[in-house]
Amino acid sequence: MSAAAILKSHPQHLRQAILVEPRCIELREWTPVAPRPGEMLVQVRCALSCGTDLKTYRRGHPLWPTPTPIGHEFSGVVAEVGRGVSAFKPGDAIMCAPTAPCGDCFYCSRGQENLCEQAIGRMVLGAYADMLLLPAHVVSQNTFTKPPALPFEEAALLEPLSCVVHAHDIARPEPFETAVILGAGPFGLLHMITLKALGLREVVMIGRGPERLKWAGELGADRVLDANREETAAEVAHLNGGYGPDLVVECTGQIDGWQDALARVRRGGRVVLFGGCPVGTKLEVDTRRMHYDNLSLIAPFHFRPRDVRRTYEMLRQRKLNFGAVINARRRLSEIDEVFAMLERGDVLKCAIIP
Ligand SMILES: [Zn+2]
Ligand SMILES: [Zn+2]
Repeated sequence: MSAAAILKSHPQHLRQAILVEPRCIELREWTPVAPRPGEMLVQVRCALSCGTDLKTYRRGHPLWPTPTPIGHEFSGVVAEVGRGVSAFKPGDAIMCAPTAPCGDCFYCSRGQENLCEQAIGRMVLGAYADMLLLPAHVVSQNTFTKPPALPFEEAALLEPLSCVVHAHDIARPEPFETAVILGAGPFGLLHMITLKALGLREVVMIGRGPERLKWAGELGADRVLDANREETAAEVAHLNGGYGPDLVVECTGQIDGWQDALARVRRGGRVVLFGGCPVGTKLEVDTRRMHYDNLSLIAPFHFRPRDVRRTYEMLRQRKLNFGAVINARRRLSEIDEVFAMLERGDVLKCAIIP
């Protein structure tokens, strides 16, 4: 369907959610444009809420000044393709990661495309919408055909799961190891499901709130500990026969979590600092502990195309229950309620369906 045909077939206007200022979202009219060479116009079938969206909603984002479109995890159906696009055609169901590297900068030349100088600035935003225009660099590198058996919801997990797969590629967990995950939110759970699939000896989740602790247990954590209980620190210290965990994955994005991660890991262990803290947050490190206990601090950011390809393969195989982290569904017209639910923390990931 061409842009003109889409306009005709939509009696109502097409909508796109705009963050006008922190805590203020408006559904505004969006006029489809014909895709230029390499671009693709996509009808959004599902977008997912994400912690980054909530952070941006609360305090704005340094890279995306308001007013800004919002939402970056999505899947959909191709409506129209620009000249030169041969891998996809109108009607194809697709899934995609919203960034792609330039291939030319210093970091790309070092194989660290996750740090590409252009990737984040050219990120696709605006998935809380009826339609979305995909830029050429994303179409050519990080867009995939959605397998028919994979629900649109799960396909939209390609982006967050790619971040997790990238982190594990850097941290190199081993099957004989014991891991502790701090934070039982959607990212903590995606880490847990993936680490369990890698066959780790024990995967322990530490979280807050009865609901989140219950979900972590249901999704397969070997042990779930309440961060608010005093005994939790001692129970972590007892892991691995009293040596403590080999790997601690920090997913709270709070300075207390970062400090806790450093305090809990065993001598010679690895700390994965996955959750980004607010701008200006400082971490105090005991250099004696750091050096004489031979700690490795890993702070993986974003993902590379190779991580996206591996993640696509994992989702395509459908062996793991990643879809379980999506536990609410709302229409696009209910976008305000989605953010209210996220603020209260009574949902993991919410699917937003136009
Ligand atoms: Zn995200
Ligand atoms: Zn680059």
